[in-house]
Parts: sequence; structure tokens; C-alpha cells
Amino acid sequence: MKNFDCVIIGGGMVGATCALSLANLGLSVAIVEQHQPKGFDKAQPLDLRVSAISLASEHLLTQVAAWPQLLRWRLCPYKRLGVWEHSYSYTEFKAVDIKQSHLGHIIENRLIQLSLWQQIRKHQAITSFCPASLSDFSSSENEVNVTLVNNETSAQIKIKTKTLIAADGANSQVRKLANIGITGWDYQQSAMLIHVETQTKQQDITWQQFCETGPVALLPLPGKSDLGGYASLVWYHQKAEIKRLSALSNELLQVEILQNFPQRLGKIKVIDKGAFPLKRRHANTYQQGQVLLLGDAAHTINPMAGQGVNLGFKDVKALQTVISTAIANGECWSQPNVLARYESMRRKDNLLMMSTMDALYASFSHPSPAVKLLRNIGISVANKVPFLKNKALAYACGV
Ligand SMILES: Cc1cc2nc3c(=O)[nH]c(=O)nc-3n(C[C@H](O)[C@H](O)[C@H](O)COP(=O)(O)OP(=O)(O)OC[C@H]3O[C@@H](n4cnc5c(N)ncnc54)[C@H](O)[C@@H]3O)c2cc1C
Repeated sequence: MKNFDCVIIGGGMVGATCALSLANLGLSVAIVEQHQPKGFDKAQPLDLRVSAISLASEHLLTQVAAWPQLLRWRLCPYKRLGVWEHSYSYTEFKAVDIKQSHLGHIIENRLIQLSLWQQIRKHQAITSFCPASLSDFSSSENEVNVTLVNNETSAQIKIKTKTLIAADGANSQVRKLANIGITGWDYQQSAMLIHVETQTKQQDITWQQFCETGPVALLPLPGKSDLGGYASLVWYHQKAEIKRLSALSNELLQVEILQNFPQRLGKIKVIDKGAFPLKRRHANTYQQGQVLLLGDAAHTINPMAGQGVNLGFKDVKALQTVISTAIANGECWSQPNVLARYESMRRKDNLLMMSTMDALYASFSHPSPAVKLLRNIGISVANKVPFLKNKALAYACGV
């Protein structure tokens, strides 16, 4: 039976980055992913699922050599971030104010994953099982026995590891098999992602307006369209309303967007759309003996501030630091008491970000005129105190 230092279940953005980060420390790594990532062709339309990737995440993707390929494919840097509710409270965060050339990039999730997998396939210390799925696992004192299923042949594969890492997303099977509980709830709202052609050429700003029914936002996308450029619109609303909007033709949806989004959006043409439920999940622990949870398997956050995968990348960085420090100090890195340092490094930070998003969500969905006045004053005050504003921006960018 093959034996690995680490077995990672889930080769999405977080799991794939984790595989490369740990293999770069000299560990033998196996990664298990149920779907084969699809190849890239520049004629392919932009994928609906995109993420705002922070500066800190860009550094990590550079460290694992996935960034140069993303630059060669397609991405859209943004330098400014505008937020407001009432127009008088408009606040703009700028990269120059924190001495950076940009605040982040909007990138298709599948391209991030594909670029990581190109590196995984070249890495001598990584064995990939793809397409394959986790079937079961059992832990004993110092090792975990893992059973996989090859998704093409249905053949069983048995492997062993010192550490089993769950990066298998919000519905983590590893988390369930390990009987790790969660706290969480479903928000009353859903988010609709809509790709549009915009009259404006490729933009360098991402903006979000808070409305009583939920925020509406624009993320700039790369490339030139017949109309000018592209953008991804995010529309948060009650579940029933998102269901109604999703059933409309692109032409009718376009009319509704123009009625509900701010005028600065300008002329648009809808080209693709999809709806996503909003959930909050937080695992009661990120570690159980030799089993660790990372990324959405550990925490699923309201996507309002585009932090989900960025938190997952911070988990990867923390685990890499814990293990490399232990190796440098001559400790046995796979001992549960050493691995426990990963949770100590990450839990408070993840909880703080999740709670901040929930507080913002609750405050902006409060209908009271007094609360509305207070939150607009709050945004305006933040705008007038550059120290606070830049500190918050630097934290969100991870610098
Ligand atoms: C509407 C919306 C917008 C968002 N926007 C942003 C944003 O702008 N910025 C941001 O940072 N985050 C954003 N997020 C959050 C972000 O998408 C997630 O945090 C991120 O995808 C989590 O990555 P992950 O690798 O942990 O999990 P996933 O992306 O869920 O990947 C899990 C992987 O595991 C595989 N897998 C699952 N089970 C098994 C199994 N049993 N065996 C083998 N493989 C398995 C899956 O196939 C998948 O590839 C957004 C989320 C939503 C819903």
C-alpha cells in the first residue's frame, strides 16, 4: 500500500495550492480530485464563477509558480474599490493610498485551479488521483488509512498517510466522516452572478452599492467585447426574487438590471447568468488527530466582500508555516500537538472575518431609517479618516 506524508481530498483552488505548498517543503503528497480540470482555450467564453484575488493570495500563487500562467491567460487587475449606500456616503479605496500598484485581480476560479494543476502534474513529489473520490478513511494513532474510488473504472485504491487534509469544499465528506460538527445557517438571500458586456472598456474599479434588498456589485472582467468590455454583476436579493430573475430571458433580465442597478453601470448586454444560495458554515474544530480541515471545508463565509477563497489561501500559508517551522526545529511535524498550531493561527482570524461580514450584512439589511442614517454617517466618517480607511483596506488585501 502506498504511503504518503499528506493526502489531500479536494483539488479545488485551496487543495491544489496546499498540495504544491507542502510538496515544496519536501513532503510526499497525494491529491484526490473527483473532476478532471478542463483545458484552456482563449476562444472559451469567460466562466461565470470568478473570484477577487487579494494581494496576499497573489503572493502565495506566485510562490507555487501558478501566477505566471494566469498572467498569460486572462485576468483583470483592479486598482479602486467603491462602496456606498446613499450617494453622499460614496467612499473609494485606492491602491495608491496603500502604496500598491493594484488591490487585487478578478480571475475565473477554473483558471486558477487549472494553472495549479499544471504545476501539480510537473511536481515529482505529488501523486494525483483524478478523477477519483474519497470512499472512506480510518485513523489509528500515527496514520490514516484512506480508501478511494477511481471514477472511471470504479476500482478501489487504498493508500496510507500521516495526515489527511480536507479541502473538499463546503459539504466536506471528510468533515462528515470525522463527525466534526458545524455551526451555521442559510442566509435569507441568494446571489445572482450575471456576466454582461459593458459600454465601458476594461475597467479598473470594482464597486458595491448597498440597497435595502441587498447589495448590487460590479466586478470588472478582462477583454474587449462588441459593446466595449465585460463585467460580472452580483445581485443579492431574497431567494424568491432571485428565482424569479433567474427564470427571465437575458433580454428581460437586462431591463430589470437597468432599473435596479446604479446609473454608473451604463449600457449593458446580458451574456450569462447563474444563482447561488448563501450559507454560513464554521466547523467546530479544524483538527481531529491527524485530520485537518482547510478552506470551505472549515469555513464558508458570506461572499459579500469576496473573502472566501482568500481565507482558504491564508489557511494554506498557515499550515505551511507550522510544518516548515516544526521541521526546522527538529520536531515531528505530523504530531497532533504540532498540527494543532494551525488551528490556533487561523480560527480567530476566520471568525473575525465571518462575524464582520455578518455584522455588515445585518446592518445593511436593517430597514430602520435611523440605522440607515447611522450606517451612511459611518461610511462617510470612514472616508474622512484616511488612517482607518487605509488600515481596513490593507487588512482586506492581506498586506
Ligand atoms: C457567489 C459567490 C461568489 C464568491 N466570490 C468570491 C470572491 O470574489 N473571492 C473569494 O475569495 N471567494 C469568493 N467566493 C468563495 C469561494 O468561491 C470559495 O471560498 C472557494 O471556492 C473555496 O475553495 P475550496 O477549494 O476550499 O473549495 P471548492 O472550491 O468547493 O473545491 C472543493 C473541491 O473538492 C472536490 N471534492 C469534493 N468532494 C470530493 C470528494 N469526496 N473526493 C474528491 N474530490 C472532492 C470538488 O470537486 C472541488 O474541486 C464566492 C462564493 C460564492 C458562492
